[in-house]
Amino acid sequence: MTTVEQATQIILQNTLTFGEEAVPLANANGRILREDLAADRDFPPFDRVSMDGIAIRFEAFAAGQRSFPIKGIQAAGAPQLVLTQKNNCQEVMTGAVLPQDADTVIRYEDLEIQDGQATILIEDVQERQNIHGRGTDRRQGEVIVKAGCKISPAEIGVAATVGKAGLQVAVLPKVAIISTGDELVEVGETPLPHQIRKSNVHTLAATLAGWGIEADLLHLQDDRAEIEATLTECLKKYDALILSGGVSMGKFDFLPEAFGALGVRELFHKVSQRPGKPFWFGRGERTVVFALPGNPVSTFMCTHRYFQPWLRAGLGLQPFENQYAVLEEDFFFKPDLTYFLQVKLVRREDGVTGAWPVAGRGSGDLANLAEADAFLELPTGKQNFKKGEVFPLFIYR
Ligand code: AMP
Ligand code: MG
Repeated sequence: MTTVEQATQIILQNTLTFGEEAVPLANANGRILREDLAADRDFPPFDRVSMDGIAIRFEAFAAGQRSFPIKGIQAAGAPQLVLTQKNNCQEVMTGAVLPQDADTVIRYEDLEIQDGQATILIEDVQERQNIHGRGTDRRQGEVIVKAGCKISPAEIGVAATVGKAGLQVAVLPKVAIISTGDELVEVGETPLPHQIRKSNVHTLAATLAGWGIEADLLHLQDDRAEIEATLTECLKKYDALILSGGVSMGKFDFLPEAFGALGVRELFHKVSQRPGKPFWFGRGERTVVFALPGNPVSTFMCTHRYFQPWLRAGLGLQPFENQYAVLEEDFFFKPDLTYFLQVKLVRREDGVTGAWPVAGRGSGDLANLAEADAFLELPTGKQNFKKGEVFPLFIYR
């Protein structure tokens, strides 16, 4: 059977690229940047006053002068004034250009102002104090943000300050989330005794929305002809399909055969893991197909563990750095499968992330997902997992 590592590798060998597009700055948060952002001028672009007070020439202070006639007010947003004589001062406001010939700023808190004279009350004054020097943060032309990062409010601020009203970003894939099964009814309906409401599509839609993707939601009854007809259309339209259900051993689990008939190449079927063992993965001419088992915990785990890295790679993001947590309690798991244990995380006083098992009642127990925060990946070849041991972590909350 395909191992978790092999499945991961195969999936990452089948990434797609989606191209790039320009979006207005207001829509760029959360998207993947596809251009470098360089400083269009020095940061800051002029010697910037960083305290409200007066600007003087240090030379005069050093020579013993403490009282300075005020020649004017240098406001933020006003063109640069001149000191006119080295014994004068200008009142200056935070964000203003430092007046010409001045080189030191004294805060109002350290002054007394009377009759047009500012008197300095302190002796500890350093040349160029309270000045944010031109180009000290970044030089004109310097790349501040490199292409390939996920845009956050911090990058939005940089883009705005270098005059980018729009940004080149990676196009997001077109994705359909498809539920399957005759037992499923819509959220707004009252299920008959033998029916249940669909939950997977909504969990996955919300998960993908968190990654910026607005997926289309579709449903397939367990009907071979209908399945093939709908999937034929989907394979023309979407970069990725995420299906839930219909890939196990049941009499109505038609998906693997249907994909075969439609020319989608099976790259693996069944992964040595729990939950999510019946996972089927394949590739059509345009489309990559993640056909996940219908049990809600399987669908959810596989989307985080497999679809997310596939998406990141396609968008040109660096792979996630592995995260780890310490098991807080002994745990026993017998089958020779990788076990994705649901855990509740604690940030311990010693700075370590601790993981408390909240195993739940199996892959159908979707209520348990609301109790946990993450999956801890427990490897094969071992049955006793001891308190204090460290394992890889996939956080979903
Ligand atoms: P299957 O993989 O089709 O055999 O489905 C496995 C289990 O998951 C069954 O109990 C289904 O009723 C359930 N299931 C399948 N799809 C969904 C869905 N979209 N939402 C909630 N449960 C589902
Ligand atoms: Mg089914």
